[in-house]
Amino acid sequence: MLKVYNTLTRKKEEFIPLEKGKVKMFVCGQTVYDDAHLGHAKTYINFDVIVRWLRYLGFKVFYVQNITDVDDKIIKRANERGISFKELAEFYIKRFFEDMEALGVKQNIDLFPKSSEYISKMIEQIKTLIEKGYAYVVNGDVYYDVSKFKDYTKLSRMSIEELKKHRIEPDPRKKNPYDFSLWKSTKPGEPFWNSPWGKGRPGWHIEDTAMTITIFGPQYDLHGGATELIFPHHTNEIAQAEAATGKKPFVKYWLHSGVLKIKGEKMSKSLRNFITIREILKRHEPEVIRMFYISTHYRKPVDYDEEAIEKAKEKLENFYNLLNRILNFMKDEKVENEDKLEEILTKTKEKFKEAMNDDFNTPLALSHLFELSKEVNRFLDKNGKIGKEMGEKIIETFKELGYIFGILQKEIKREELPKEIMDLIIKREGYRKSGNFDAADEIREELKKKGILVEDTPEGPKWKKINAP
Ligand SMILES: [Zn+2]
Repeated sequence: MLKVYNTLTRKKEEFIPLEKGKVKMFVCGQTVYDDAHLGHAKTYINFDVIVRWLRYLGFKVFYVQNITDVDDKIIKRANERGISFKELAEFYIKRFFEDMEALGVKQNIDLFPKSSEYISKMIEQIKTLIEKGYAYVVNGDVYYDVSKFKDYTKLSRMSIEELKKHRIEPDPRKKNPYDFSLWKSTKPGEPFWNSPWGKGRPGWHIEDTAMTITIFGPQYDLHGGATELIFPHHTNEIAQAEAATGKKPFVKYWLHSGVLKIKGEKMSKSLRNFITIREILKRHEPEVIRMFYISTHYRKPVDYDEEAIEKAKEKLENFYNLLNRILNFMKDEKVENEDKLEEILTKTKEKFKEAMNDDFNTPLALSHLFELSKEVNRFLDKNGKIGKEMGEKIIETFKELGYIFGILQKEIKREELPKEIMDLIIKREGYRKSGNFDAADEIREELKKKGILVEDTPEGPKWKKINAP
């Protein structure tokens, strides 16, 4: 049974989609005026692990992520560069898709609707809100009348006083200070669309509800995004959708991921303290970045820290070393005591599942993989070999569970060493274990001359090719 923490109820709840076996899922996507940074990567990787797990459990998930291509910042930057907002947006969409594909995220998203494709749907929804008395027009602008929607603070649980503090759209024509914009009348130099209220363009929040109501209908299962979007963005989405359709709840489960911090502050474009995905991918492989993020529970904030990323890299390398080691130790015939490994394997899968079913507890699930890795290394230390069938089964398990995290998907190849050298390594390990260090050292020197350096590690002997003297 899967349990998820629902921000709406502030509780862990059993996950039961509206329609049996099917999940409609939406995550707030990118505003394409610049390259995506590591903070965005955290959100998208966190929800990518969630969608992978839902699919692993057998749910048929339809996963939608919007792309905001009509926005103040896009228009401003396009004007600065002397190109159309469309051109600017297309340029950054292409780059965003490249980043998302490199991180292994894009492949799992079914649809990327763009705001420019949904303007007529947004106008329709605003019309409905005006007709139902939830919105009002002032000289070509349309605002949502927050005082008309009783449950406005049910997601954020903010007080009216807090609401007033947070609203930053100053307009003396607004009925309440916290009313928010649905339609903005056009200003010179801006792209515009025709509407019943004159030329203009939509506000930001209406985009998501126009899209999801069109794609999913009035209600759906899972809405994700970073915690910073709870208010005002997601709060306003609920107000728009539930007022427009009359159906509650608009979304059954609201899931929020913790933000990425850098030196204690949120990583963001506005604070200019960001590192783009492109930059980091020049230094680290995508699997390392994913390993870094899954090491913390998705709801918690993470501090960007190059040392922590190095640690993630090391942990990932240890897994790959183990998989390589298994390949190199594999023998056709079964090895004694393999049954114990079989048992450990089954238990690991169970514990992994239990951890992931508890609100996607990736650090706990990961610790079970570390434990398994230790056990297998111990087995190889002791026996110096492993049966092919069991070896392959273990590799399969690491790959299968690693897939949920988006790690361990690189091809592993058996590094062929001549039999005489493998025999020497095993012989040396035998000497070392029985305390005959002189003999072990002698073989070590002999191997060195043949271009093989053997190092003893807590996980057993490791070898690498070196230039023979
Ligand atoms: Zn959104």
